[in-house]
Amino acid sequence: MAAQLLPGAPGRARPWSTRTTVLAALGCALLAVLTARATGPAGGALNTVAGEGLLLLAVAAGAVAAVRRRRSLGAVGGLLVGASGAALTGDLTWIVNTEVLHREAYPDWPEAFYLLAYALLLGAGALLVRRRSARRDPSALIDAAVVTVGLAVVVQCFVVADRLGGSGDPPVVQLLGVLYPALDVLVLGLVARLLIGARSGRAPLVLLVLAMLSYLLGDLLFTGLVLAESYEAWQPWINALYALFNLFVPLALWHPDAERLCERTDAGPGRLGAGRAVALAVAGLLAPATLLTEHFTDGDEHVVAVAAGGALLFALTLLRMLLLVRAVEGQRALLEVQARTDALTGLANRRTYDHRLQRALAAGDGAPLSAGLVDLDRFKQYNDTHGHAAGDELLRAAAEAWSAELARSAPGACLARYGGEEFALLLPGLDAQEAADVVRRMLAVTPLGQSFSAGVVGWDGTAGARELLQRADERLYRAKAAGRARVLA
Ligand code: GH3
Ligand code: MG
Ligand code: MG
Repeated sequence: MAAQLLPGAPGRARPWSTRTTVLAALGCALLAVLTARATGPAGGALNTVAGEGLLLLAVAAGAVAAVRRRRSLGAVGGLLVGASGAALTGDLTWIVNTEVLHREAYPDWPEAFYLLAYALLLGAGALLVRRRSARRDPSALIDAAVVTVGLAVVVQCFVVADRLGGSGDPPVVQLLGVLYPALDVLVLGLVARLLIGARSGRAPLVLLVLAMLSYLLGDLLFTGLVLAESYEAWQPWINALYALFNLFVPLALWHPDAERLCERTDAGPGRLGAGRAVALAVAGLLAPATLLTEHFTDGDEHVVAVAAGGALLFALTLLRMLLLVRAVEGQRALLEVQARTDALTGLANRRTYDHRLQRALAAGDGAPLSAGLVDLDRFKQYNDTHGHAAGDELLRAAAEAWSAELARSAPGACLARYGGEEFALLLPGLDAQEAADVVRRMLAVTPLGQSFSAGVVGWDGTAGARELLQRADERLYRAKAAGRARVLA
């Protein structure tokens, strides 16, 4: 409530054009680069304080936005700011450790904050996915898993495997070396899932995704470059990526469309558009491409990782295919039912009736068979008096009452809506008189004080479907002429 009363609260802000959003993002990128350069080894203490102070301000701004938007974003805003705050606290702790306390121990407190940042970021991403999903979408999950597994193979082969390969580090250092890339891959999976079917709140979502990508790219670069021992030269750029994370999170939360971040997106589940198909194909090719790269660059070939990843990718693709086939079959069954039934009354439609009548006549086995046509009396007048909707309701109620009566007195009968307020009957096993009796019972249960006229005809064993219905129609016409509310056989 308070947020709504605050003048200039983010929810009331005017929408940003794409240009404004892009300019704001570029501004943040510039700030991130300047901050990273200022706080680098050559920056000096004053610059470091200024640079980290700016990031601290950004986190505070994010916190304000998260509080103001707590109604629309719920815990998502808090988790995002928490992640950004934890990452920054990790950096600050690291600076204090190295510059002030001159402690060189690794791992130390900063790692606890970095891990917390990942946990909060993953929590925010998972919650965002859940709140944005209108319904369960296993296909989207599988697609995200395909992208994740494809990239996991790359990260495993080029980053993690060397960490495990007896580098001589203590186990906890090796564990962290594996844990960070694994967490990065999880973040990537979340990013992939978030982008699938993303429609509403697009601009802030893109900013959040860029924030996440900056963070994990910074981390992967850090791990990769530490391994390659060329970290020093790249440090400012890695710091810039981390700073970008701290700046993009508040920017996303302050964006006027952030209100819509948690809006349900109604992307048809299981859809496989061109973009998604290309992404899946690329992800699926990452495993063999990794092996080929290793082969042709004479690097270590991580056959087990590539084979396991490839097998998993195949299983996921197969599962995705099964889901698609199941969805198509479900739709086919639905269409089949829709093609056979009348939408308003749920009765068989004219096509079904004609088909069944033809079949019954073709199978003519000497048993009696009757057909009938039923037409509501003065239905136009009913419509004019009570309105078209009430007319629809009468059609529905009549179909229900007649079906119930038929279930009692002629269970094998077929009642169909033949068109408008006209219905057709097929009564196997009944001669004309028996059939007329059944139709009279239907007349007696017609709801809302209404009546119908009907013509009933017994099959003589030779007449065709059209001729049979024509005779029934003649009797119906005579029933109308004789004063309506009657059944003529
Ligand atoms: P009669 O006793 O001679 O059969 O008179 P009637 O008014 O029932 O027959 P008429 O053929 O003059 O009018 C049929 C009316 O049925 C006209 C049309 O608007 C109405 N109708 C046809 N289909 C529907 C429908 O799906 N819903 C509603 N509410 N009305 C329909
Ligand atoms: Mg009528
Ligand atoms: Mg009619």
